[in-house]
Amino acid sequence: MEDRDGMLQELKSQVAQCRRCRLAQTRSQTVFGEGSSVAEVMFIGEGPGYQEDRTGRPFVGPAGELLTRIIERGMGISRRQVYIANLVKCRPTVDMKMVRDRPPDPEEVQTCTPYLLRQIGIIRPRAIVALGSPSMKYLLKTSSGITKLRGTWGEFNGIPVMPTYHPSYVLRNGGEKSPLRRDVWEDIKMVLEKLGWPLPVLHSGGDR
Ligand code: SF4
Repeated sequence: MEDRDGMLQELKSQVAQCRRCRLAQTRSQTVFGEGSSVAEVMFIGEGPGYQEDRTGRPFVGPAGELLTRIIERGMGISRRQVYIANLVKCRPTVDMKMVRDRPPDPEEVQTCTPYLLRQIGIIRPRAIVALGSPSMKYLLKTSSGITKLRGTWGEFNGIPVMPTYHPSYVLRNGGEKSPLRRDVWEDIKMVLEKLGWPLPVLHSGGDR
């Protein structure tokens, strides 16, 4: 029988040793990704931030807390049932000074994404949620902005891809009361429909 957990573990060990790009110089540790090896849905962001670099886990700061709420309250499933990863596995920062986060540049994305491709190939999700513009641009090979394409299905290697706002962007634009949260919810509802999963009873009428 196929040992997906074993394959992911082996890949994680490779990533931990990787020094293929300059982000290796300033990381505390790599952030491989986490979740179920048989997840039906994958969430893909852009790269680790400060908290993720410290803990080695993806989406653990305030943005991670919002993502967890989207998964658990919005989708009605446990965070452990999905798989969460990023385009790059080491934290990109402005001027490499480890102060302010930035999106990964195209060269870093190109160098690191073979690892993500292996993760997707092992897990083989039925749907992917692209969190934010860099992830969407990579997966859908587009130069359009997230505002234009969110809420519309695309495809990556035969897998349906739903782009939506990155949780950090939502928090920067209104915080917990951000109107963008409703857009994210609309996008997530489309994912639930695509997977044939029911809307969580508590939230099917409106707000999360
Ligand atoms: S970002 Fe990716 S390619 Fe660059 S050093 Fe880290 S694991 Fe390697």
